[in-house]
Amino acid sequence: MTHRIVVLGGGTGGTMVANRLRRRYGEDEATIAVVDRDDRHVYQPGLVFLPFGLTDSDEIVRPRQRQLRGGIDFHQSEVEHVDIEEDEVVLEDGTTLQYDVLVVATGVVLQPEETEGLTGPGWNERMFTFYDIAGAEQLARALDSFDGGRVVVNLVDMPIKCPVAPLEFAFLADAYFSERHLRDKVELTYVTPLDGAFTKPVASERLAGLLSDKRIELVTEFAAGEVDGERGRLVSWDEREVPFDLLVTVPLHGGAAYVGRSEGLGDDLGFVPTNQRTLQSLAKANIFAIGDATNIPTSKAGSVAHFEGEVLEDNVARFLEDRELSTAYDGHANCFIETGFGKALLIDFNYEQEPVPGHFPTAIGLPLLKESRLNHLGKLMFQWLYWHVLLPGRDIPGISAEMPESGKRSQPEPV
Ligand SMILES: Cc1cc2nc3c(=O)[nH]c(=O)nc-3n(C[C@H](O)[C@H](O)[C@H](O)COP(=O)(O)OP(=O)(O)OC[C@H]3O[C@@H](n4cnc5c(N)ncnc54)[C@H](O)[C@@H]3O)c2cc1C
Repeated sequence: MTHRIVVLGGGTGGTMVANRLRRRYGEDEATIAVVDRDDRHVYQPGLVFLPFGLTDSDEIVRPRQRQLRGGIDFHQSEVEHVDIEEDEVVLEDGTTLQYDVLVVATGVVLQPEETEGLTGPGWNERMFTFYDIAGAEQLARALDSFDGGRVVVNLVDMPIKCPVAPLEFAFLADAYFSERHLRDKVELTYVTPLDGAFTKPVASERLAGLLSDKRIELVTEFAAGEVDGERGRLVSWDEREVPFDLLVTVPLHGGAAYVGRSEGLGDDLGFVPTNQRTLQSLAKANIFAIGDATNIPTSKAGSVAHFEGEVLEDNVARFLEDRELSTAYDGHANCFIETGFGKALLIDFNYEQEPVPGHFPTAIGLPLLKESRLNHLGKLMFQWLYWHVLLPGRDIPGISAEMPESGKRSQPEPV
């Protein structure tokens, strides 16, 4: 019998999983279809560099279909809905795809319109997001002509993709204005709804220290409720105000809209309730989910999709063979944090282990939670690995879904 596997979303997680499954199964054993609305695959970590002219769109966008192995059917269309009772996906172009296994990998949608005033007067003139290509390009032009004033970086609420990306933006802005000899004319402020610079205590303390070293003011527990683009004011629900000349926002995130139209598939925010160890959805046994589309309590990050992909591939095979699923996904996440001036930090953690100092992946390796040039080079090299190793569904020797423990210092040294 030929298995029918349908993957919704041809981004980081969907492409990786489709390619891994294509390697595992011959074409007579399984048909694999991938659905995506467009044919532009964006290397999203590059969006942090784009506003500062450190990369450009040509370097970080590639044709989506070309990242898929031969023998994978690519459907370019919006997903209209999934009928989980009938095991079928209906596409906006009228196609119906029936499946034995469905993998949901449609990521998140940005919802700037959900914050009052954010997409009103001033949107893409003095208020920007770098979380998509169009926004990052517009912000690059605005930064180019900015010659001083108050720059505010704000994340409206969690969850967001890559929770360290707004911090990276703030650090790179410090370096950018310094290199343009404008730093003394720019007040940089980082405004977050969290009670510190980051979600995890040890990393949060380190990152708050770096913000302070770089003269970036940290405003915490600020739940942004409104943006007044005419007056240049970010206003919280408890009526605190932060003034800005240029606002860089990370808007609210939700799940893909079709999830809400697919009865029984998602939660109120459009994310797919998913078993955090097996990656099987709670909606139905033949539906799995990966990456930003899930509701699991780890970071929404490409590294997470990569580690999940290994377990998910195995579990799709186990499901099709009627075997018990593996519970191997431990929440492993790994992120380089660019800090400007050619340096970066690295954090590595899972559901139980918060980011701590030490080295990765073993006692000899990249320094954890410490600025270094080596980590910056690692971040730059990662783009090559992304296109040539991760997306094609290959393994990186020595780095796997299971978080390595040997290089970590369980007792963090004092900051
Ligand atoms: C600025 C920025 C910096 C980042 N930096 C890092 C980093 O340094 N390290 C890291 O690990 N991660 C980073 N990330 C996060 C990382 O890019 C994402 O977590 C990762 O891409 C998630 O993969 P995914 O497959 O879940 O979603 P995506 O890669 O976003 O793919 C989802 C796909 O689904 C498609 N889709 C959605 N809805 C529909 C629909 N209705 N019909 C058809 N197609 C649809 C979309 O077109 C898209 O191609 C960053 C993200 C951003 C925005």
